[in-house]
Amino acid sequence: MNASPHDSDAVPTSGRPNIASGSGRRDFLAGMAGIAGAAGLLAAARDSVAGDLSFMNNVPDPLLAEEELPTFRFALEKSEGRTQRGGVAKEATVKQLPISKGIAGVSMRLEPGSMRELHWHATAAEWAFVVGGRVRTTVVDPQGRSETNDFRPGDIWYFPRGHGHMLQCLGNEPCFFILVFDNGYFSEFGTFSVSDWIGHVPQELLAKNFRVPAATFEAFPRQEVYFAKGAVPPEPAAQPLQGLNPPPLTHRHSLLSQSPLHTFAGGREWRVEAKDFPISQTITGVVLELEAAALRELHWHPNADEWHYLLSGRVRVTLFGSRGRYREETLDAGDVGYIPQGYGHSIENVGSDTARILIAFNSGEYETIDLSQLLAAQPADVLATNFGRPAAAFNAFPKSDVFISGD
Ligand code: MN
Ligand code: MN
Repeated sequence: MNASPHDSDAVPTSGRPNIASGSGRRDFLAGMAGIAGAAGLLAAARDSVAGDLSFMNNVPDPLLAEEELPTFRFALEKSEGRTQRGGVAKEATVKQLPISKGIAGVSMRLEPGSMRELHWHATAAEWAFVVGGRVRTTVVDPQGRSETNDFRPGDIWYFPRGHGHMLQCLGNEPCFFILVFDNGYFSEFGTFSVSDWIGHVPQELLAKNFRVPAATFEAFPRQEVYFAKGAVPPEPAAQPLQGLNPPPLTHRHSLLSQSPLHTFAGGREWRVEAKDFPISQTITGVVLELEAAALRELHWHPNADEWHYLLSGRVRVTLFGSRGRYREETLDAGDVGYIPQGYGHSIENVGSDTARILIAFNSGEYETIDLSQLLAAQPADVLATNFGRPAAAFNAFPKSDVFISGD
């Protein structure tokens, strides 16, 4: 189930095409270091090779350079995933959904008393939305500070890349949450679990490491535990062995307990950005509710890729990819969708019930340009010339941003 960058084209862990990587660049820089012998010159050389990072947007992604747009939907909850005692995990990475290079997602369910064991992710930060049940997390940062948090449905967590953490079902009901990672090449099944590591280190080394007898480790697991099964956790949580040493920024944010950021006739939007939840520097989250027939209008995001998980209902998502390329996909509850940065798109409720969509962006700042806004920001003569229509044809067009269109 591993998806590695080596499975595909030479794309780095950032998920963006890398025009400046590889041995050629390294050889060049090594040569420059020998010749210049000055840090300033070396930095200048590196800049001239790597170029303006924003220019990388002009390097076509092979997958997005074809005549047709690739699929941008994956039926996550219908996929097999990994089921073992205590829980279920299903993932959507570039392996399952090749277009989703910038963001991966996981659906996870834990039974009472089950834990997703202590682990970290080498190549991605983790953001999560709790759908059902209650969850406890612990997380430790590089300064040794730790936080234990309890979560309810509608709450969010964020763990910076590489920070150690565990997830645990609280209480006597199962829990269910959606994890989002800011790297499509991430794999939940290729993360670093503590039992996997300790199970593969000689006991003598472990004894020296922890200053306890080697026999301590005889009955420890030899393979990765992944889901650990134990007693239902105490409430409130017990203190860490080292005592309390909290970090300056919390890892928990309560999203749906707050009023929506925006309310429209056809729906409502909750949003959490880095300015609301400062530790979440690389992910913005949105919960969008669309009433029957309502439309999140045609728009694009200048600064981020977009990842969807349909919590309930049925929506039609449209994607515009330039050069006449247009594609529609219908998402049912449990399906994942993906919109590359800058690509035009819309989301329309085509079911009979309210649709609820969890949306994640791989930027801590939310940016959108809506098509109604693009047109409303123009003088009428510009629109007349652009579309070859009389200026009066635009009299009835919106004078401001629509965002969600509905009755
Ligand atoms: Mn994790
Ligand atoms: Mn969007």
